[in-house]
Amino acid sequence: MKPFRHFNAQSVDQAASLMAGYGGRACIIAGGTDLLGRMKDRILPSYPEALVNLKTIAGLDAIRAEDGVLRIGALATLASVAAHPEVLSNYRALAEAAGRTASPQLRNMGTIGGNICQDIRCWYYRGPLNRFSCLRKGGGRCYALKGDNRYHSIFGGSVEKGCVAVHPSDTAPALIALGASVVTSKRTVEAEQLFSVRLSGTTILEGDEIITEIRIPEPSAGTSSSFMKFALRKSIDFPIVNCAVALTREEDRVARARICLNAVHVVPRRVTGAEEVIQGRTMTEDVAGEAAEVAVSDAKPLEHNAYMVQVARALVKRAILACGG
Ligand SMILES: Cc1cc2nc3c(=O)[nH]c(=O)nc-3n(C[C@H](O)[C@H](O)[C@H](O)COP(=O)(O)OP(=O)(O)OC[C@H]3O[C@@H](n4cnc5c(N)ncnc54)[C@H](O)[C@@H]3O)c2cc1C
Ligand code: SF4
Repeated sequence: MKPFRHFNAQSVDQAASLMAGYGGRACIIAGGTDLLGRMKDRILPSYPEALVNLKTIAGLDAIRAEDGVLRIGALATLASVAAHPEVLSNYRALAEAAGRTASPQLRNMGTIGGNICQDIRCWYYRGPLNRFSCLRKGGGRCYALKGDNRYHSIFGGSVEKGCVAVHPSDTAPALIALGASVVTSKRTVEAEQLFSVRLSGTTILEGDEIITEIRIPEPSAGTSSSFMKFALRKSIDFPIVNCAVALTREEDRVARARICLNAVHVVPRRVTGAEEVIQGRTMTEDVAGEAAEVAVSDAKPLEHNAYMVQVARALVKRAILACGG
């Protein structure tokens, strides 16, 4: 690794002002499981001059239910989210997503804030020593578009020029399905609005903006949620496709539904068309299947990833049915 300065922040304000002082040449570090790999492999043309460590800020890892809202500190580890009794009983999709992320070691170190801010996993982009200077790094072409795109977007590229990388987070779709919002040092945004389709990063966060907390409203009576993931290995692997669903039933009909796919597009993809299919209806296998068809009806797979359409269709159906009949 190249030399860099390291600051142990004592407060969010101090971390933000350190970041502002470096004007884009410093990085926030939480668990470091994504960032340190990127730095060791030198995948980017530029290298941070400093890291600002959030783990030294007291209380940023707390998880508590308060006034009808579950508040998860950005520094809460994935393991602690997955095992928290409140998450397990009322926010099953999130418990399942956090529990299926990576491996036990990574879940012990990786934080929920870092999980939603992690960088894309395109293998050209991640090539060590900045081997492929692609569009996303300011180069002239996307190597995946005509290359090995078996794990890339099935819903088209980013708004700028066409990077077809996917967002790899397991927890992001669960947060979106559960209607979470993300509190930063500057504002509060809906989890659904956090992600960026631009080439300049995976989120809309400004350079000195820090996620401090995730808030999820207590689900109303009759709500259940689920998370499904397809990966090549069960033990440790990024999702090929994942899907989270939250359904609220009134009597025997679906009153509200939120369905979110991820790893299929440059940002997590809420499939509102599929939600509309099931609203007001009694859930059956056929209804879930109809919704799943609609969820992938506008898919535009690349040369090597048509199989992901089939996987996405199956996961949407299974995740809906997993919310119970
Ligand atoms: C082998 C391996 C397998 C993996 N498998 C999966 C998987 O199956 N599913 C999955 O979802 N993920 C997977 N991951 C990714 C892993 O979950 C993330 O690396 C982890 O969640 C990142 O959290 P962290 O705290 O370590 O973040 P860091 O590495 O510290 O940071 C990641 C990024 O987020 C930024 N950041 C962190 N916290 C904040 C904050 N509070 N505010 C603003 N910016 C912030 C950092 O600046 C950095 O850019 C895997 C990673 C590895 C190495
Ligand atoms: S998909 Fe995006 S990150 Fe991957 S090579 Fe193309 S431009 Fe680069």
